[in-house]
Amino acid sequence: MTLIIDRLSKTYPNGVRALNQVSLTIGTGMFGLLGPNGAGKSTLMRTIATLQTPDSGSIRFGDLDVLATPDEIRKLLGYLPQEFGLYPNQSAEVTLDHFATLKGASHPGERRDLVASLLRQTNLYEARKKNVGTFSGGMKQRLGIAIALAGSPKLLIVDEPTAGLDPTERHRFLNLLGEIGQDIVVILSTHIVEDVRELCNSMAIINRGEVVLSGDPEVIVERVRGTLWRKTVTKAELEAHERRYQVVSVRLLAGRPVIHIHSETNPGDGFTAIEPDLEDVYFQQIGLSAAKAAA
Ligand code: ADP
Repeated sequence: MTLIIDRLSKTYPNGVRALNQVSLTIGTGMFGLLGPNGAGKSTLMRTIATLQTPDSGSIRFGDLDVLATPDEIRKLLGYLPQEFGLYPNQSAEVTLDHFATLKGASHPGERRDLVASLLRQTNLYEARKKNVGTFSGGMKQRLGIAIALAGSPKLLIVDEPTAGLDPTERHRFLNLLGEIGQDIVVILSTHIVEDVRELCNSMAIINRGEVVLSGDPEVIVERVRGTLWRKTVTKAELEAHERRYQVVSVRLLAGRPVIHIHSETNPGDGFTAIEPDLEDVYFQQIGLSAAKAAA
């Protein structure tokens, strides 16, 4: 099934325009929604999850009009919000059993099988008797996914799930999402470029409520090949370089600034060509969209 978002706009009562004519077509697989904090990702996720309404625009999932028939879409939806509450003194198994009941698994034997299979899938089976209050951040997130999967969703929305996870937990969590994303539509919102690079076959970069770029990450990266250059400078030289060149990013490597710039031709001046990377594209697009907003 395909999710089609068409010209979605939302301005909050305080005047913040969180979404501005957002259009995206999202097929089966992992879709990465990448953008800095405040870009509008959560607003978009919550709108698709029918938790809030836009001012204008439409969303279709397969044959369903999401905004007109929210109850229908909720049957097909799994949603893992940024923050979710669990009873700390309940075991993972009891927690999941409770949610499986809510999702309509009423037959006890069937429900037991479903809960066991979700615990195995999310690698929590060994910890099933432990209270969730003792769980690590990664375990809680995996339990969140198990809960979201309890209703066998066709559309899974995961909002900033890797923030705060250590690298091992993050990888385990992304691998889990990757497996799920083979059969259904999974939308992963994140401000972490590697999450998208490692996992998603399709993506969009969103900033200030607007889609600034969308497509296949590999194709997007290929498009900037030959236009990115790198140089290590001194801190004293940095400012002059920022004035002179279109700087995409500045990173410190062993205490010295390493700058990446965009240039259609070889800038000389000690720069060397670099292999393009999704992070360069991301910083470039965010920079361009900020410059456009300031103009
Ligand atoms: P992201 O998830 O990318 O960080 P959000 O969708 O949370 O972005 O926020 C987009 C913008 O809308 C931000 O400027 C944020 O402060 C604002 N915003 C989000 N929710 C509300 C709200 N309920 N009322 C007013 N402004 C909001």
